[in-house]
Amino acid sequence: MSEKHCDIAVIGGGPAGLTASLYAARGLVNTVVFEKQMTGGQIATTEWVENYPAFPEGISGSELSRLMTTQAEKYGAQIELFVTVTAMKRLDDGIFELQTDAGDTWTARAVILASGSVPSKLGIPGEDKYTGRGVSWCATCDAGFFKDKTITVIGGGDAALEEAMFLTKFASKVYLVHRRDEFRAAPIVVQRVKTNERIELVLSATPLEIEGDDTRVTGLRVKSTEDETERVLNLDGVFEFVGTNPVNELVAGLVDTRANRGHVAVEIDGSVTEVPGLFAAGDLTNSTLKQVISASGSGATAAFSALKYLEELDH
Ligand code: NAP
Repeated sequence: MSEKHCDIAVIGGGPAGLTASLYAARGLVNTVVFEKQMTGGQIATTEWVENYPAFPEGISGSELSRLMTTQAEKYGAQIELFVTVTAMKRLDDGIFELQTDAGDTWTARAVILASGSVPSKLGIPGEDKYTGRGVSWCATCDAGFFKDKTITVIGGGDAALEEAMFLTKFASKVYLVHRRDEFRAAPIVVQRVKTNERIELVLSATPLEIEGDDTRVTGLRVKSTEDETERVLNLDGVFEFVGTNPVNELVAGLVDTRANRGHVAVEIDGSVTEVPGLFAAGDLTNSTLKQVISASGSGATAAFSALKYLEELDH
């Protein structure tokens, strides 16, 4: 529909993108954030964040998102909500051209990719059929539907254990199904889960099928990895937290992500990709630590590098 221009385009409005836009805007360059939903990314639907410094009692994910957004806007970042960047290319003169689903074409002198990651699916029978009818990937969004009911959380990482704890505020019983007998999650969270009376651990168990009565979920069939026996857990809801996949479609043709399981490789000290003018931050990258603090840190680094890149172009 129309052509628009900015100095730095930030793709994604989670902690990495919001921090990048704060730093870029404070560098006094025209900064636009494209966010396909609301800002905050994965923390927007995280009940409680306990490990982001300066909040000794913790802070809700939605409030942390709101504060980060307000701070970026205060310094002049323009945030385009509910706008998806559908295609990106680097022109011969080094300018990036972005197409949006609003029909606009944007040009940018530099791009910071902070498109994050999305929850993985198990790919088992019943999952698609009962999505939204008992199968969920968002405890904050759907916990209220399971008051006094029995549910399961699948996974053994931080997300699974933290969300299992949160879900016990609603559900009367939470089966925590994990394929091994050891957890990846932080020890302090594992300790809390193990002492929570509403949580029953179902360990060394692989989910095979989500069962239902054609309208709603009624159970989860699991197989023991120890003796191959199968059992059905009778329940009303299934929450999957089995990892995440990087949102990397936009870099196809620009960056080869195959060596990093879909992640964009960056030079950690600069958030610099192999493409001049293209920077990346947060969960999309090959960084080891996937945390709000590290996403924000890499967002700041990406903005610093992008500002330096623009300055070098100008002189
Ligand atoms: P994750 O750490 O990758 O854990 C995924 C879990 O799902 C693992 O326990 C894995 O089992 C299990 N899993 C994967 N595929 C499976 C399958 N096909 N069937 C059954 N189980 C399967 O993912 P996450 O918990 O979403 O966390 C992602 C990143 O964000 C991590 O770096 C995490 O530390 C971070 N995070 C941090 C916080 C926090 O600090 N507050 C909160 C949330 C997330 P195995 O262990 O056997 O591989």
